[in-house]
Amino acid sequence: SARVGVLALQGGVREHLTALASAGADGVPVADEAGLDGLAGLVLPGGESTTMGRLLARFALLDPLRAALADGLPVLGTCAGLVLLAREVTDGLPGQPLLGTLDIAVRRNAYGSQVASFEAELDLAGAPFPGVFIRAPRIERVGDGVEVLARGPAGEPVAVRQGGVLATSFHPELSGDERLHAYFLREVAGLPAVPA
Ligand code: GLN
Repeated sequence: SARVGVLALQGGVREHLTALASAGADGVPVADEAGLDGLAGLVLPGGESTTMGRLLARFALLDPLRAALADGLPVLGTCAGLVLLAREVTDGLPGQPLLGTLDIAVRRNAYGSQVASFEAELDLAGAPFPGVFIRAPRIERVGDGVEVLARGPAGEPVAVRQGGVLATSFHPELSGDERLHAYFLREVAGLPAVPA
């Protein structure tokens, strides 16, 4: 089956590897530039976007990753991964490295301390999907070329797609439901996936 990388510098790597396997792909941890070779897709997991950005810089992965994305490598970013992909982070740390390939603006940790983590049933392509939100970023603006695939409790976008870039502010790898990973493999990366 196709090799799909999971960026393995920090964050929730193992759960994505498991979800990819359930959806029919061969998930492989990626921690250096050589690991990007020959991938059919890449997952940027949740975790801490500022830490992950610093580690990308330290491991000399920022430029190779930007080049791979510019070359059309399909990518799924979840939570901190969505922040990394965003063009604009309204409360990012000064100098926080971003990949900037997804035309959205996000506010980190925007759901507030009281409800820093919550679950909400989402509507994903007409079917309910359990949304697990953990200190989630809030999407505050989407560009013209960005498709909204799911909305949160207040109508805000929580799953978006721009061509080969798919991103969620929630954690599909933690809900035991691999339909979003299957969608990524099939519709975004053009790979065979186990049917949902
Ligand atoms: N709040 C984190 C950040 O800004 C994301 C949290 C997560 O990935 N669960 O990077």
